[in-house]
Amino acid sequence: MKVNIKTLIDDVQCYETVRDLRWPEIRGCPFCNSISTIKKGYDDKDSAKQRYECKECRQRFDDLTGTIFSGHHQPLKVWILCLYFMGLNLSNNHISKELGLNRGDVHNMAAQLRESVVKKASDNSSGRG
Ligand SMILES: [Zn+2]
Repeated sequence: MKVNIKTLIDDVQCYETVRDLRWPEIRGCPFCNSISTIKKGYDDKDSAKQRYECKECRQRFDDLTGTIFSGHHQPLKVWILCLYFMGLNLSNNHISKELGLNRGDVHNMAAQLRESVVKKASDNSSGRG
């Protein structure tokens, strides 16, 4: 009998991992960076995905807004497992077998994960103070 890791991890944990990755300290609005955001229930289709609203710019967003995970056909689970396997130093080849993906997909995912989970804002000079 073969154990499939994809059936062993659950979506709630995956979303929690994403929150920790993108908001290690405090949650910020992906549009205006304001920290006055409020929770607005969960996604209709994906019950583990938390939605938020920014009190500053009034935009709505969710756990994946502005990350490399949004707008991809791979489920979040697959991304998180890919990240996990990368941490174990598995080769792309090995990861692709484990997740049942083709090597090209894994290569692209790994490249994006190495860079950052948060999409780069277009030329945003960070002014602090
Ligand atoms: Zn905002």
